[in-house]
Amino acid sequence: MKHANISIFVPHIGCPHRCSFCDQRTISGTQHAPSADDVRAVCEKALGEAKSPENTEIAFFGGSFTAIPRGYMTELLETAHEFTGEGKFKGIRISTRPDRIDREVLDILKKYGVTAIELGAQSMCDDVLEANERGHTAEDVFNASKLIREYGFELGLQMMTGLYKSNLMKDMFTAHLIVGLHPDTVRIYPVVVLKGTRLGELYEKGVYEMPSFDEMTALCAKLIVLFEEKGVRVIKCGLHASEFVEKDMIGGYYHPAFRELCENAIYKDLIWDSLFEMADMKYPQNYGEEELSKKVEKIHGEHIVAVDPSCISKAVGQRRSNIRHFSEQGIDIKIIGDENVAEYKVELRR
Ligand code: SF4
Repeated sequence: MKHANISIFVPHIGCPHRCSFCDQRTISGTQHAPSADDVRAVCEKALGEAKSPENTEIAFFGGSFTAIPRGYMTELLETAHEFTGEGKFKGIRISTRPDRIDREVLDILKKYGVTAIELGAQSMCDDVLEANERGHTAEDVFNASKLIREYGFELGLQMMTGLYKSNLMKDMFTAHLIVGLHPDTVRIYPVVVLKGTRLGELYEKGVYEMPSFDEMTALCAKLIVLFEEKGVRVIKCGLHASEFVEKDMIGGYYHPAFRELCENAIYKDLIWDSLFEMADMKYPQNYGEEELSKKVEKIHGEHIVAVDPSCISKAVGQRRSNIRHFSEQGIDIKIIGDENVAEYKVELRR
């Protein structure tokens, strides 16, 4: 049964930081801070409707859960804790800043039945963290992750790609360091530039250089494969579709189905790789004209590509984009499902 979350947003009212991408208006303005009674009402309703509460966590999202006033935090946890255990929800999930984790906080989280902690790492490059005014360092991410694992919580790390002063190489470097911290899960957020943020100002001044949308999709496709191959579950790639983002976005990499675009790109590359392999084409070999045309001829024509049955639509692409892409190159691809083929693998069946 699939994992589910009962999401409760806890805004960090009065946050002293000014992260470049964060829209402070949503923190101080319209967002409602839930009371313990609100949490109880949400949990009661969700428990009544849950098909499989044993696979569901109560999730306090907002990014700074352990930085909110301590009394308020424990009040929310105490209430949520009543709804966990035998016949109820699996546990509690929180997300917070890496510099707001220490033994005292972890003892409290343990006491109230928290099962998973997600850290907003964003980048593992100190210059990027500084340029985006995160107020913490990569070392804080290392230390907090180590402590979270030592306490036996599930560890989740969140990274942002395309931040100010970052680039494709630094984002890839961040991903490799994250793999080394052995998180259970990861969320990848390609940056979205919102009006009224520091990033928005830099973007409007024209001093914020960003990779193109296609470059970012290709990077995130590589990150998904890297994490999944290393046993780190990618539970999110791209921001949730929301009216707020669509209204206030002035730049960056928002698409309502961003992950799907990345997965289509993964399968497109896998199919190309297997076609080249089948034709025994090696890079950077310099083939003679005759030999090359024989190899290209082998690639042209019809091919049956087997994928994990749950990945057929990823391989076909949104609105058949991958099928059309190959067809434009004179290659007729037919995708079939085969449960012996692993996720993010393809097999050619001629
Ligand atoms: S993203 Fe940064 S500025 Fe925004 S609430 Fe979190 S810590 Fe504060």
